[in-house]
Amino acid sequence: MMHHIVSVSGGKDSTATYCKAIERGLPFRAVAADTGNEHPATYEAVNRLHEKTGGPKVEWVKADFSREIARKRVFIENNWRRHGVPADIVERALDVLRPTGNPFLDLCLWKGRFPSRKAQFCTEFLKIIPIDQYVTRPLLATGATVVSWQGVRAAESEVRKHLKAFQRLESHADLPGNFFVFRPLLRVESIEDIFAISRRHGVEPNALYGWGLRRVGCFPCINCSKAELALVDRHFPEQIERLETWETLVSEACKRGHSTFFTIVNDPVMQEEWSAYLASGGDPTSMADFDPTHSRFGIRRMVEWAKTDRGGRQYSLLARDFSTTCNQWGACE
Ligand code: SF4
Repeated sequence: MMHHIVSVSGGKDSTATYCKAIERGLPFRAVAADTGNEHPATYEAVNRLHEKTGGPKVEWVKADFSREIARKRVFIENNWRRHGVPADIVERALDVLRPTGNPFLDLCLWKGRFPSRKAQFCTEFLKIIPIDQYVTRPLLATGATVVSWQGVRAAESEVRKHLKAFQRLESHADLPGNFFVFRPLLRVESIEDIFAISRRHGVEPNALYGWGLRRVGCFPCINCSKAELALVDRHFPEQIERLETWETLVSEACKRGHSTFFTIVNDPVMQEEWSAYLASGGDPTSMADFDPTHSRFGIRRMVEWAKTDRGGRQYSLLARDFSTTCNQWGACE
């Protein structure tokens, strides 16, 4: 039996892909991964898709890191003290290292850090693996053929230019079924054409695009632009507060005592400050430096920087070419 699975994120590309699946006229399932880092408007857009289009209701899947966190607790108890980590740091980590039920936060608590452009484990752990674990693999285990619909466009990047519209993957060779990917938007040239596909099914763009956001798969995405971060702060300050709370929790859960939602290394201004901080004797691995480091380079500092536009600060130094960093699956779009 053949199963068509459309991954939906609430963004323009996956919504258009869902609409293309409706146009094909045969049954399909739509699946979304709840990262715990989406804006309410995105949940709303996903949850109402079937009402507007007459297509299937989107099924949510959600990663659970309870076991990983339990194992990390045992590791900390058994190893940190033995390796000379001060007792108060061990206690602080154990105090916060408990599952919260929010996949994004729990992933970061488990890893002891936030994802970054260079270590973008969020897409895999929060989107690709849960959909694979709860939907794709169980179907393939029955010997079925699964066609995964992906909303990527060749025009978006050099990498995507070389993708095929239909392709067999050997990624699940351990299972009896056959796994294919189908990319119905691959040759769609413009973003306007993408929106037009959804509009002919009565679906208006996710409300967040109206606020000037380019990507809505997470809110914000770790790869968002400087301008987008400023927009998030201006219109949705509660999201910045949430990230500030997350930074505190993840910082307390990790041995070095600080972890920030956005990496500072891509920004020359912050690099300069960071170098000066280290040159003045600051030790990024010392808990004594936890508070100043966190406040100086955390989300609040990034928001302030995002509001600036001069003195070398005018670049969008968070990653702009999202498509090359986010993998060819388009799972975040
Ligand atoms: S949208 Fe951004 S933050 Fe969310 S999983 Fe994808 S890359 Fe990570």
